[in-house]
Amino acid sequence: ANFIIGLTGGIGSGKTTVANLFAEQGIVLVDADIIAREVVAKGSDGLKQIGDKFGPQMLTPDGCLDRAALREQIFHHPQDREWLNALLHPMIRTRMLEQLEMAASPYVIMVVPLLFENGLDKLADRTLVVDISPKLQLQRTIERDMVSKEQVQNIINSQSDRQSRLDKADDVIDNQGEIDALQAQVLALHNKYLQLADIKNS
Ligand code: ATP
Repeated sequence: ANFIIGLTGGIGSGKTTVANLFAEQGIVLVDADIIAREVVAKGSDGLKQIGDKFGPQMLTPDGCLDRAALREQIFHHPQDREWLNALLHPMIRTRMLEQLEMAASPYVIMVVPLLFENGLDKLADRTLVVDISPKLQLQRTIERDMVSKEQVQNIINSQSDRQSRLDKADDVIDNQGEIDALQAQVLALHNKYLQLADIKNS
C-alpha cells in the first residue's frame, strides 16, 4: 500500500483492540511487535548474532531466545543495549518496509508501540494515537497481564508522556469509554483514510 497510518499509544491504551477493528474493514496490519519477535525467532540471523556476541547462554535448550538472559545482560551492560538496538532496529525497519510495500489494501495500519520514540512516524503518512488516561492504562494492563502496579507504572514512565504523544498525533481515538464506543470512531477514520489514500494515489 502507498498510504501508511502509524498507530500508537501507551501500554494498555487499546492499540491491538483498535487495530483489529480496522482489520475487520479489510485493512492490512503491519505489527512492529510481531516483527520484533520474528527477527530473533529460532534459527534467525538476528538470534545467531546475539548468540555469537553474548554466548550460548542466550539460547534456551530448544534453541529459542532466552529473553530473561538477554534482559539480564543488557541490564548489567548498558552499551550492549545499544549494540542490540543497532543490530535489530535496521532488521525490523527493513521487514516493516517489505510488509508495508506488500500490503494489498487501500491503506495500511502500522502498529508501533514506540512510534514516536523510535522515529518510525517518519515512515507514516499520518499518525493515529489511541488515548486513555494513565489511571486507565494501569487498570486495564494490570487486569490483562496480572502484573503489579509498579511494573506497569515503570513502563508508562519509560514511554513518551500522554501530552507529547497527543501533540504529535494527526488523529486521536478516545478509548476511555466502553469498547462499543470505538467502532464509530474507527469507521469515521476508515472513511477519511480511504479518501486520503485516493487523493494521494490520483
Ligand atoms: P500493549 O501496549 O500492552 O500491547 P495495547 O495498546 O495493544 O496494549 P490492548 O491490548 O488492545 O492495548 O488493550 C489493553 C486491555 O484493555 C485489553 O485487555 C483490552 O481488552 C482492554 N480494553 C481495550 N479497550 C477497552 C475499553 N474501551 N474498555 C475496557 N477495556 C478495554
